Amino acid sequence: MADLALDLADFITASPTPYHAVAEAVRRLTEAGFTEQPEAGEWSTEPGGRYLVRDGTLLAWWQPAGTRPGTPMRIFAAHTDSPTLKVKPRPDTGAAGWRQVAVEVYGGALWNSWLDRDLGLAGRLALYDGSTVLVNVARPLLRVPQLAIHLDRQVNQGLTLDPQQHLLPIWGLGAPSDGDLIEFLAAEADVDPDEVAAHDLVVHDLTPPARLGEEEELLAAPRLDNLASVHSGIGALLAAAERSPGVIPVFVGFDHEEIGSETATGAAGPLLESVLTRIAGGFDTRIASFALSRCLSVDVTHAAHPNYLGQYDPTHRSLPNGGPALKVNANQRYATDAPGAAAWARACRDAKAPSQYFVGKNTVPCGTTVGPIVATRLGIRTVDVGIPVLSMHSARELCGVQDPGLLTAAATAFMTDMT
Ligand code: ZN
Repeated sequence: MADLALDLADFITASPTPYHAVAEAVRRLTEAGFTEQPEAGEWSTEPGGRYLVRDGTLLAWWQPAGTRPGTPMRIFAAHTDSPTLKVKPRPDTGAAGWRQVAVEVYGGALWNSWLDRDLGLAGRLALYDGSTVLVNVARPLLRVPQLAIHLDRQVNQGLTLDPQQHLLPIWGLGAPSDGDLIEFLAAEADVDPDEVAAHDLVVHDLTPPARLGEEEELLAAPRLDNLASVHSGIGALLAAAERSPGVIPVFVGFDHEEIGSETATGAAGPLLESVLTRIAGGFDTRIASFALSRCLSVDVTHAAHPNYLGQYDPTHRSLPNGGPALKVNANQRYATDAPGAAAWARACRDAKAPSQYFVGKNTVPCGTTVGPIVATRLGIRTVDVGIPVLSMHSARELCGVQDPGLLTAAATAFMTDMT
């Protein structure tokens, strides 16, 4: 089980952005014999493993031999993006002899967690010829420096950060000059800077993932939300493919969950529906398929925090290494219902994996994820689960080393469940 956590650490390090997470997942799928299904190409119904990429979103599925149109699907849905700082189109700025990078906040980041860290920069460069190139500066390049306490003695009464004024990283000394950053990144990516027309770039923390605790039973890492789930989903799909069940296991990792999913490649967009419709054999046969299909929506959940227990329901809180938690909300901020919960319970029993609950305290509204969106768009029964983490949306989060393996085992059982 703990070995899987170490593999998760490698996956996270290789995946500073959704585009890199998709590339790393594709590398693993290709190694296992999966082939690309181009979105605009002829549709293949041959048995075997296939994947489809659009930007930071990845779909992958296993078509078992002998499946007919209308065969039910077992879908694992997660998201590839994480809260961070995103570079603005004209990044070169600065003041008082410092060169800085203009950024805006992406998603619901804990801003303070980005302070005083060695930061890298990664993403994609879009060229005039229509192609995109991945770039990853994985060495200390940037820092968002705190103000010394001597210059603000009140800071420990409550830190206030203005995202326009206080979150701009420095990247060296000198006068800012238009085009500097892109010129530097073009050299890193080995492309002509004059051919770079646009970019999607984010900062990422460079501290390597580490095991923590006396028994090393915890894993500290960036982007556990939600690369821990993406990693388990790819592992579960590959394990399900080996069993070649009479259902079709499907993985989807959406971009843009952290900003509400309402984008062309987000969960509220048309991509999953169009791909599932084609896997199901068309509009007529998809009705039968969708009626018998199920979706496991997987996103990290809140581990009980010992210093803030008042924020939790005392009988529905979870701990690291107790297995993934089933997420329930009466107002369907999580899509779980009783038959879905039973399917999850069956999967956990088959996999001999323990499971916990997360239900929010009645006075603390809970978050949400892709599950309710997929359920609403497609009418497919969906169940929300996730491994417990501390410090969700921090630049560095914390989970148990056993849980990624337990989640992968339970998800494999869910994705091969013929019931
Ligand atoms: Zn998440």
